[in-house]
Amino acid sequence: MKYLKSYKLFESKKQEEVKLPNLSDLKIVELKTIEGKNKWHNTKDKLIHMVLDLGKWEDFPSNEIPNFYENIKKYIPSMNEHRCSVGRKGGFFKRVKKGTWLGHIIEHIALELQTLAGHETGFGRTRGTGKKGEYNVIFNYEEKSVGLVAAKEAVKVVKSLIKEENPEIKEIVKKLKDKIKK
Ligand SMILES: [Zn+2]
Repeated sequence: MKYLKSYKLFESKKQEEVKLPNLSDLKIVELKTIEGKNKWHNTKDKLIHMVLDLGKWEDFPSNEIPNFYENIKKYIPSMNEHRCSVGRKGGFFKRVKKGTWLGHIIEHIALELQTLAGHETGFGRTRGTGKKGEYNVIFNYEEKSVGLVAAKEAVKVVKSLIKEENPEIKEIVKKLKDKIKK
């Protein structure tokens, strides 16, 4: 029991001492759309392709960022629906708890923002480009303009979560809904 207590103390101290990289390190290098046949999916042909540079965040998967898991669950609870590679509800949150990279998280948030705006999406892939810390983040869209805004907003949401600030999801969803062609 005594051991457990002191271990916990050590853990929380360690969290305070985490020196996180600058948020400006995380940036979109390129943002474009893919229409038609592509190497990412056999049938889906309306995709967003974001090249994302994690910079020093490459060394900080989600489990290394203090309270990230707690905050994403708190501010975007609807993401419990994301199965991810685990294959069942809560699967994505499991991956976040265990530790996954920010590009993968941004992919899921971009999909969630579109879902909340009423669009049926749900396909995403994140793969390294071969350059250290750089990723191809791919996800589908129904309407190009909505998908592109979702990409940019997803990066901002992740930055808010890292800062432990409320990402104001409702405001973003409203912005996306306003973009949807009536
Ligand atoms: Zn996933």
